[in-house]
Amino acid sequence: MNVIDESERLALMDAQVSADLRYTLIDENGEVVFDSVQSQLDNGEYILKELDNHSNRPEFQGAVREGTAYVIRYSDTLKKDMLYAAVRLDDGAIVRLAEPRESLIAFAARFVVPIVIVILVVAVLVVVFSKLLTKRIMRPLDNMDVTEPLKGEGYSEMSPLLARIDDQRLMLERQNEDLARADSMRRDFSANVSHELKTPLQVIVGYTELMEGGLVSQEDIPKFSRIIHEEAENMRSLIDDVLTLSRLDSGSISASNLKDVDLFILAKQVADRLAPIANKKDVDIRVSGESVFIEGDESLLDEMMSNLITNAIRYNVDNGYVDVIVGERVQPAKEAVVVVRDAGIGMPEDELTKIFERFYRIDKSRSKETGGTGLGLAIVKHAALSHNGQVQVESKLGQGSTFTVTIPIK
Ligand code: ADP
Repeated sequence: MNVIDESERLALMDAQVSADLRYTLIDENGEVVFDSVQSQLDNGEYILKELDNHSNRPEFQGAVREGTAYVIRYSDTLKKDMLYAAVRLDDGAIVRLAEPRESLIAFAARFVVPIVIVILVVAVLVVVFSKLLTKRIMRPLDNMDVTEPLKGEGYSEMSPLLARIDDQRLMLERQNEDLARADSMRRDFSANVSHELKTPLQVIVGYTELMEGGLVSQEDIPKFSRIIHEEAENMRSLIDDVLTLSRLDSGSISASNLKDVDLFILAKQVADRLAPIANKKDVDIRVSGESVFIEGDESLLDEMMSNLITNAIRYNVDNGYVDVIVGERVQPAKEAVVVVRDAGIGMPEDELTKIFERFYRIDKSRSKETGGTGLGLAIVKHAALSHNGQVQVESKLGQGSTFTVTIPIK
């Protein structure tokens, strides 16, 4: 066995033990013989700083008792947590190794500052990049011309959105045009109604003033009264037609007015009612066909037929005729058909689309002379439409006219 002296043993231990490890040799009484941290080499000799007796240290007591001991505790000498491992040697001395141990908090604390710095840097980068990115994404939207969204720069992902915006724009444009048209029609209509009412009123006021002032001879009074009566009737017809149109404008027929109507019976009733007027002009009204039932508003259908037959009488020739034919057809769909045909004056082809407009008359004076309001065909068209039907006209100047109304049968 190789025996080495105390000084050699200390030098050997000092050389072997790593710098992180603290090595302490304590004699059996607890006096520190050597400590790698507290000893200094001076002229080949280790000089130990003054250290208090270690016999009260738990690792010393454990090693004395058990031979070996491991303890983690705070070192008053080094001012940090240390792991102590102590072994009792054969001569009773204790060798103690100590290694610094970081607490979890101390360990975590070491990373806090770098982590905080990294987080701050990342946060700043995120803010800067997100601002740049947002600006880049928003640029095409900022530069977009809402009146022409499909023109200009943009990326493909925006195409569906831009197409929708363009659709909406076109829809709004169309709606605005419709509103402007409806508004202008409303204003025209009001102006026309006022004008149409003013004329008979002026006649009535004029004639009544003359009669009031005693300026009308006794034999002229029946004639003046008849004129006043006719003008008042014209006003009443106009007001009735305006009310019917405003009722039709306000929406579809109310369900309470719907009932099964036989158009054939209705045609015969209307023809009978208008027969005196037709007779005055030597016009013959002939109703033919068969019963056809539709679900509809009877008073509106009556007015529709009445307007068509009245026109056929009004714009007829003396000794003329009016054919009213009522029937049903299945092609192209199951529908009721009412044809009103006359052998009257007819109409030029280029007028046929305009005659359904409110207050449109081809021959204004003839219309007025015969008590026309200029609203009859507008009511016919609306009445057909409100029964989901339609009205068509065929006519040739001097050769009569044929109006055909079709209404679906449920
Ligand atoms: P009105 O009260 O003037 O008859 P309508 O709206 O019923 O108004 O008709 C519009 C115009 O269409 C009439 O002024 C007339 O010129 C023409 N019209 C309508 N029905 C006939 C017809 N059966 N034959 C010839 N012209 C017609």
